[in-house]
Amino acid sequence: MCEFCVQHGAGKKWYLAAQNYADKLVQSQERRLFIESVFKDYRKMYGRQVRIADVALKIPLVKKYALMKFNAFFTSDHSGHVVSLEDAVSICGIPGRVSLVDCPCSKYLFGKDVKKCILFGTTAEIVDNIPEFAPVQDIGAEDAAEFLKGLDEQGTIHTIWTFKTPYIGVICNCNNRDCVLMHLNQRYKDLNVIREGHEVAVVNKEICNGCGNCQRACQFKAVTINEKKAKINNSCYGCGVCRNFCPVGAIQLVPRIELELIK
Ligand code: SF4
Ligand code: SF4
Repeated sequence: MCEFCVQHGAGKKWYLAAQNYADKLVQSQERRLFIESVFKDYRKMYGRQVRIADVALKIPLVKKYALMKFNAFFTSDHSGHVVSLEDAVSICGIPGRVSLVDCPCSKYLFGKDVKKCILFGTTAEIVDNIPEFAPVQDIGAEDAAEFLKGLDEQGTIHTIWTFKTPYIGVICNCNNRDCVLMHLNQRYKDLNVIREGHEVAVVNKEICNGCGNCQRACQFKAVTINEKKAKINNSCYGCGVCRNFCPVGAIQLVPRIELELIK
C-alpha cells in the first residue's frame, strides 16, 4: 500500500478504484485544460522540464528547492506509477471508453506516429479534438488486453498517469530508451517522476539456470547474477518484464508488502 492507496483507494490499490477514472472529474475546466496542454504542448512542457532539471539539480544551492517543485508536480499534477500487465488489463475494464492514441514522445521527439498509449473516457474525447492526435482509435477493453499482452512480451513497461491526481487518464507503454519521463526518472533518482509498482519480482533459485536473460531485459538495473543464479535487488520497479524472458519460468511477481514483511 502506498500514500496514493491511502488517499485515493481506501487502503486498496488506488488505481483499481473506479472513482479515479470517473468522467465527472473531467468536468473541471482546470483538468481539461491540463490534459490538452500535456498533448498539445508536450515538447515545450517536457523539453523545458528536462532542461531545468539538468541545470537545477546539479547546483547544490537550488537542488533542494527544485526537487520540491518537481516532486510536487509529479505528485499532484502528473503522477506516473508502474503497473503489472495483470493490473493494466484490469484497469482497461474500468472506464467505459478505451482508446489507442499516438505516443507523444515518439511523435514529438522522434517524428514517428506509434499508436501505443491507451486513453480512457473523457481524456480520449479531449485528445480526439487535438488535430495532431485525431482520430483516436476506440478499441474496447478486450482488444486493449490483447494489445497490452503483445507489448508486454516485447519488454514494454506499463505506467498509469494522472492528469491532476487522482484522475487517471492514460496507460503509457514504453521503455527507458524512448520515453522522456522514464529517462528523467532514471537520470535523477531523487525525482519521483515514476513510482514503483505494488509488486516486486522474485526468483525461484531452484530452477534458475543463470542464463542472464532477465538481467538483459530489466531496464531498472535490478538484476545481478551471482554464482549462476539471478538475484533481484532493491531497484526492482515490479514491471514484470523479466518474466517474459525467463526460459524456465523462474520469475514471478509478488506483492511488495509481502517481501518487506519477510525482510
Ligand atoms: S527485476 Fe523484473 S520486475 Fe523488477 S524492474 Fe527489473 S524487469 Fe521489472
Ligand atoms: S532468465 Fe530465468 S533462468 Fe535466466 S537468469 Fe533470469 S531467472 Fe534465471
